[in-house]
Amino acid sequence: MSKLQHAVVIGGSLAGLLAARVLSGHCERVTIIERDPIRDEPEARKGQPHVRALHGLLASGGEILQELFPCLLDDLRQAGALVNDMGETMHWYVAGGYRRRMRFGKLSIGVSRPFLEWLIRGYVLGLPNLTLCDGRGVAALVASSDQRRVVGVQLAGNAQPGAETLRADLVVDASGRGTSATRWLRELGYAPPPESVVNVDVGYAHRLYARDPEDPRTRSWIFVTPVAPAERRVAGAFPVEGNRWLVGMGGWFGDHPPTDEAGFRAFARSLPAPDVAEIVEQCAPLSPIGSYKYAASTRRHYERLSRFPEGYLVLGDAICSFNPVYGQGMTSAAMQARVLGRLLAERQGTIDGIARPYFRQVAKIVDIPWQLAVGEDFRFPEAIGRRPPGTHAINSYVSMVHRASHHDPLVSKAFLEVMNLLKPPSSLMAPQIMWRVFARGQGRSRV
Ligand SMILES: Cc1cc2nc3c(=O)[nH]c(=O)nc-3n(C[C@H](O)[C@H](O)[C@H](O)COP(=O)(O)OP(=O)(O)OC[C@H]3O[C@@H](n4cnc5c(N)ncnc54)[C@H](O)[C@@H]3O)c2cc1C
Repeated sequence: MSKLQHAVVIGGSLAGLLAARVLSGHCERVTIIERDPIRDEPEARKGQPHVRALHGLLASGGEILQELFPCLLDDLRQAGALVNDMGETMHWYVAGGYRRRMRFGKLSIGVSRPFLEWLIRGYVLGLPNLTLCDGRGVAALVASSDQRRVVGVQLAGNAQPGAETLRADLVVDASGRGTSATRWLRELGYAPPPESVVNVDVGYAHRLYARDPEDPRTRSWIFVTPVAPAERRVAGAFPVEGNRWLVGMGGWFGDHPPTDEAGFRAFARSLPAPDVAEIVEQCAPLSPIGSYKYAASTRRHYERLSRFPEGYLVLGDAICSFNPVYGQGMTSAAMQARVLGRLLAERQGTIDGIARPYFRQVAKIVDIPWQLAVGEDFRFPEAIGRRPPGTHAINSYVSMVHRASHHDPLVSKAFLEVMNLLKPPSSLMAPQIMWRVFARGQGRSRV
């Protein structure tokens, strides 16, 4: 199999690391360019402060990570992360009741986002053909004289003054939701991708607490979600490595959790179920209260562009950044990296024309989590954006699914399969699920 000579990945966060892992099998050399200096420890860097917030990994994303890094689960367990059946350890209050626990057959991984990235970075940087160039940002794309092909990147100097060019056969942009791709494309004479934007004005606050391994709650992942639009607060407490709980709370459309001690506690007590407040009241805090504001889910439709330069692709949050409440970003990035790997394998070193099939396949992947996330957000009248037809009817049905899942393990499982991007939303319309939903999901939610 012939290989590309050199690929450059812009951004060394999770999407960039996954892209680099996949590219390493198809290129002689891969270079990750990361603007922040990187230390060999779990950290939240200036370019990705959000990683301190509560992060859950969907089961489908976890499975892709295990394919890419076969020792991941063992290393996580060894480091004290809890790896358990997601359905058995679920403690999820939704639509006025707790979802029925059941054996799901898929794993929940109790790990903080910085720790997960640090482990993955260790595997990726251990690849023999991989180089990390940190502390240097990419300032621009470098193109051929006819502008048809991206042939490298121009580095912005931090340590060294002046610009420097790094040539590459393929540049993969994984520089996150703040990517400069739109500007870079314009500079080369290309139209930027059309965007879908749905405002959510979500604010988060998060804090680490000590977790007693003997506490009966210790294996549970706790989640409390609102009956929207009357309620607008969400919260979770996930067990993470180091015998800690990571507590995260958030609220839509300005109903943001305060970051002072008393306000944080009061917000926890205001939730419709007591579980998160109990952790906050009973466990010793181990960190300051951090916060993060998230204005809008943003999707960039590269698949709709008729002209695009050769030698350049985009991946991860730079393509689509979802309202984080639904925990989809890492999984979406992993699925996109898998598409990239499959296309490179099919093409055996030829990348001309790869952008069209890549962006089309990625669009199909992104369609479902996007539909799930914005569909839920449209329960709030303040959400502005293109509302897919039937949103109201679908949301009414999903509310019934939530209520049925208080009692019915099969419905609970069917919902988890969709939420974890293992099955399409249409699977909730299967007759054997629908009749259970209609039989057990009637009635009104508490609010
Ligand atoms: C508050 C919050 C909570 C979230 N919770 C979840 C969750 O529960 N589950 C989940 O799956 N996902 C969650 N996400 C999303 C998840 O964090 C991202 O999908 C994931 O981090 C992958 O992002 P990324 O690598 O594409 O981009 P980022 O993590 O934003 O990283 C981009 C990287 O590119 C670097 N960079 C930027 N510009 C340049 C440049 N010009 N040159 C060089 N480097 C550059 C930055 O320094 C940074 O390191 C959450 C997001 C937020 C905001």
